[in-house]
Amino acid sequence: MKLTIMGPPGGGKGTQAEILSEKLGIPHISTGAIIRNAIREKTELGKVAEGYIAEGQLVPDELVIDMVSKRLSEADCENGYILDGFPRTLPQAQAMDKIGIKLDFALNLIVPDEVIVDRLGGRRECKVCAAPYHVKFNPPEKDGVCDKCGGVLITRADDVPETILQRLSVYHKQTEPLIGFYKEKGLLADAVGRDSIEDTTKVVLEVLGVKG
Ligand code: AMP
Repeated sequence: MKLTIMGPPGGGKGTQAEILSEKLGIPHISTGAIIRNAIREKTELGKVAEGYIAEGQLVPDELVIDMVSKRLSEADCENGYILDGFPRTLPQAQAMDKIGIKLDFALNLIVPDEVIVDRLGGRRECKVCAAPYHVKFNPPEKDGVCDKCGGVLITRADDVPETILQRLSVYHKQTEPLIGFYKEKGLLADAVGRDSIEDTTKVVLEVLGVKG
């Protein structure tokens, strides 16, 4: 299955993508995680992207498109993948069409802005493997330590209140138009997010027609 998960920042895309990836045995490809890794490793892409991320802005389309098309040509993507955070603009979605990437679903995770602002402050991420956590909704077994790899949990630099509002505004302006784009193509699968991760996963599996 080839799918993209769309939705506002902090809406649970990464968490649901991770769960689906394990269930379906296909890779979870998060453009945000690839970019944060590039920043940590100080690559050329990382150096350019750093300022955009810190400001809550999107990284320029051509850089992200190039990065994703390289990643999708790797062997583990042959049987499908879950794109998390890509495409995020109409030009990115159109570029996918041009390269010949055909999706089976565009999953639209619906979460209201008020819920997002509440949630993002408690979000944590493993510095080593990027696994997502939340102090209240998805805490690790041991405070501040990743259950999966033992790495230290950190708060992302762009999860501060001013940047959160900026990212939400960018989402509404630049990413939300993709909902209409995929609806027209007959690929849109709407999933209304619930309070708990498990309940949201149930909704997601149902709209994708995957057995729980
Ligand atoms: P995320 O982890 O998906 O919330 O992404 C974090 C940040 O990475 C975003 O706020 C953007 O600055 C950048 N980013 C991630 N994916 C994309 C994309 N498809 N296009 C442009 N910028 C992106």
